[in-house]
Amino acid sequence: MSDWLVELGANPTSRKVLKSLGLPIPLPAALPRDRDAWRPAVLDGRRYLFESQSAAQATLDALGAKRATLGDSGKSDADVLVFDARELTNISDLARLHSFFSPRASGLKAGGRAIVIAREGVSGTPLIVRHALEGFVKSLAKEVGAKGATANLIVDSGEGAAGALVFLASLKSAFVTAQTLFADGPEPSSPASSAALATAWQLPLRGKIAVVTGAARGIGEATARTLAREGALVVCVDRGAEKSALESLASAIGGRAVALDVTAFDAGATLLAAVAAEGGVDIIVHNAGITRDRTLARMKREGWDAVMAVNLEAILRLTDALAPELRDGGRIVALSSIAGIAGNIGQTNYSTTKAAVIGFVKASQQRFQARGITANAIAPGFIETQMTAKVPVAIREAGRRLSALAQGGLPEDVAEAIAFLCLPQAAGVRGRVLRVCGGSLIGT
Ligand code: NAD
Repeated sequence: MSDWLVELGANPTSRKVLKSLGLPIPLPAALPRDRDAWRPAVLDGRRYLFESQSAAQATLDALGAKRATLGDSGKSDADVLVFDARELTNISDLARLHSFFSPRASGLKAGGRAIVIAREGVSGTPLIVRHALEGFVKSLAKEVGAKGATANLIVDSGEGAAGALVFLASLKSAFVTAQTLFADGPEPSSPASSAALATAWQLPLRGKIAVVTGAARGIGEATARTLAREGALVVCVDRGAEKSALESLASAIGGRAVALDVTAFDAGATLLAAVAAEGGVDIIVHNAGITRDRTLARMKREGWDAVMAVNLEAILRLTDALAPELRDGGRIVALSSIAGIAGNIGQTNYSTTKAAVIGFVKASQQRFQARGITANAIAPGFIETQMTAKVPVAIREAGRRLSALAQGGLPEDVAEAIAFLCLPQAAGVRGRVLRVCGGSLIGT
């Protein structure tokens, strides 16, 4: 489904007319996106500026980014502004945020990025500083969002969080804004040379076997395509009713189609046999999900049970069933929702399951951590799919517009974030929730 306001805004004539009418309608900028595979020169054409010398610059250099030029007034032509705050120890140093971003914020255009890197800060002043930085990026995200730029915070434990920096600096993170991305676990040690660092981004999922549930359409389909694009063999799972869409997808991406209902009593055994035939499984994406919206007073028990069965119980049972074939260093990604964070009228059943998914990834992180497996949740905001097409028009418009980027996201935006979490470079992100919500005002 297309977004009428983004389309209107992209047309210079209608943009002019709307502006001259003075209507209080935000005209969201179309977001530049990168749909190509990760590659050694993925940041080619991106110009960056760091606030001060930082080891993180080498990562951007290795992937083709160039240093921005500085004008006399301190303005720059940077697409990516990075403030490495890991050395900040005094509250008074927060003024450096103002000195660096204030002259340059208005220069951030569509696709622009403001990125702050913080230490985890478990106590004392560093803890206060980290919280201060979260507030800063959330507000900056709202200020630059109408122009299609994003602002995010990376929290690391001192090991560089290079993977998170590359993802957020790239055009693959178009719909991720106002977020704190915790990448505080150990990352794989950085390749010694910049050439090796760049090569690590080429087909990073080659040789991996992935399972994606609910793959016939929407976010699941985009995820299956994206993981396959990065080299994974994808086992695409969806209901029997979707068999033909599932089979055409599997054949288009060189994957396998397994038509089953994730709630069926033998779903785990069938899927286990399918992955065992491929030699195991490295990535499990629990994406299949349904809604049965009604206020609690009007909700029938069937509507409650159906949502529990697909969105929660099936995730637990399939994970247990696949655990024997889940290889060391694997990845589990489960789809939560901002409704699971904020709650929503008419969605007590859905929000219960989507909040439970956050508990599931934290519990799974504890369960599998010793084997180098990570488990994370993605919480999409308003994404243009068949699920949201069913939402009444007024609520749909509110869902789209009440966000920093003032528009809905695309299934591919979520797929890129899921694929990022599956990369070796995201090994430091463990048991976390990444919102892909365009800076939605809901539940922030
Ligand atoms: P969608 O309705 O477009 O697709 C869901 C897919 O899951 C369908 O192909 C469907 O056939 C499959 N599915 C449903 N029940 C199944 C079952 N029992 N067994 C096997 N497959 C089953 O949904 P979407 O918008 O792509 O959402 C994907 C996930 O993202 C869901 O978990 C959803 O809750 C979550 N999410 C979506 C949004 C959004 O804005 N679209 C927002 C937040 C969270």
